[in-house]
Amino acid sequence: MAYQSINPFNGKVDKTFKELTDSQLEHAVATAQTCFTSWKTKTYAERAVILEKAATLMRGHVDDFAKLATLEMGKRINEARGEVKFSADILSYYAQHAEAFLAPQKLHPKSGEAHMESTPFGVLFCVEPWNFPYYQLARVAGPQLMAGNTLVVKHAGCVPQCAMAFEKLLLDAGAPAGLYTNLVISHEQSEKLIDDVRIKGVALTGSVVAGRSIAARAGQNLKKSSMELGGSDAFIVLDDADLAKTIPWAVWGRMYNGGQTCCAAKRFIVLESIADKFIEQFKTALSALKVGDPMLEATTHGPLSTEAALLQLVHQVDEAVVHGAKVLMGGKRIKRPGSFMEITILTDIKPGNPAFRDEFFGPVVSFFRVKDEAEAIALANDSDFGLGGSVWTKNAARGKRVASQVDTGMMFVNNIDWTDAELPFGGIKDSGYGRELGNMGIQEFVNKKLVRTVVMDAPA
Ligand code: NAP
Repeated sequence: MAYQSINPFNGKVDKTFKELTDSQLEHAVATAQTCFTSWKTKTYAERAVILEKAATLMRGHVDDFAKLATLEMGKRINEARGEVKFSADILSYYAQHAEAFLAPQKLHPKSGEAHMESTPFGVLFCVEPWNFPYYQLARVAGPQLMAGNTLVVKHAGCVPQCAMAFEKLLLDAGAPAGLYTNLVISHEQSEKLIDDVRIKGVALTGSVVAGRSIAARAGQNLKKSSMELGGSDAFIVLDDADLAKTIPWAVWGRMYNGGQTCCAAKRFIVLESIADKFIEQFKTALSALKVGDPMLEATTHGPLSTEAALLQLVHQVDEAVVHGAKVLMGGKRIKRPGSFMEITILTDIKPGNPAFRDEFFGPVVSFFRVKDEAEAIALANDSDFGLGGSVWTKNAARGKRVASQVDTGMMFVNNIDWTDAELPFGGIKDSGYGRELGNMGIQEFVNKKLVRTVVMDAPA
């Protein structure tokens, strides 16, 4: 069964869901298309009423939403509550700012007047991952619904109840039928849907494999797409870093959301002169995390999202070792029910080891020593990914200089405050293209139309 809630804390199946039949899917797309014809005519203020109402409802039911996420994908309850509140903030942010972001832009041609208008594309197909089961939905729903588009959304198979809860949220907030539709569909149905002439754009957040497949299909159909894919972000520790501040952020950066964040700190690149101290303190701090039930606030190390995710991570660590990496800590699944992975530190990862290039989506640290700043930058850039990264130093100017030389979509100096509603999020290289959030996020799926007025004689 593809759509199933399984509690990763104990492996128990909670609920299973059937995929839509083709005729149910056809009905959903037709309804979204009909809805678009009226939704696009609404004012921003009219759209904002629904989005603000949804945000208010979310804030009023933080625990209900949070517990569902913890049940389905094992997110620690505190983090789940934070995600729910932040998702509500994203909806509110676009309710408040969409009109200004999409206001006509005056241009200055040599003759006459001209301006750019922004108009919605139509029905968009969004494919979203389980790791932030509400935030990922809010990242598309906030901007795209305010822009006047309607959405049909395929969420990940392991979080069907979160997906349904978000759809219900919008309906409860007064959304007309077809404004936001959750689709419980197969990959094959998804592919056919991309071919459907009524689908005008495709947004994916997920793995590189999914990105290649969905972007190719969208490309064949000449449909605009945005791809928010994986990452293997560098956490660069310069020789003058303040370790008292850096170590807690290193722990947070690797371990937040069980290590299952696209822009998590994954490759720790540390200057030789500070490397021994850093790794000793980092290991001590990681060892202090408490394994347990993600529903309990005292737990600081929960399960991975699914058994399959755990098996994949264990396999990657084994392969890394076969290819010469050393295990400084952890390396195995934890012997207890549920999909728990030991916190793992890998060292001696050389080029040619699959671990040198692959993304570890869980609590696995890849640790590298480098002789100087230039080598740190070169190693950070020796990656197929280009999502984010951070640099740690007491000298902010030096940090900015290093940040400018790392080829990613986002760089953070002495922080990993990854995401804010008002800041664009996204990457380059295999991390994808396009941006979500901020002003840029709402511009991805609107037609930028030039309107020019010139008083001219007829051509001779
Ligand atoms: P995934 O397997 O690619 O799944 C993500 C979504 O894509 C799910 O809804 C999945 O559905 C769907 N999907 C996968 N292949 C598909 C296909 N051929 N046709 C239609 N739908 C397809 O990703 P994951 O491994 O679960 O999620 C983690 C990945 O997402 C990591 O690489 C992470 O870095 C990345 N991510 C990126 C960002 C970002 O903003 N850049 C944010 C979060 C996560 P099923 O569940 O039904 O297979």
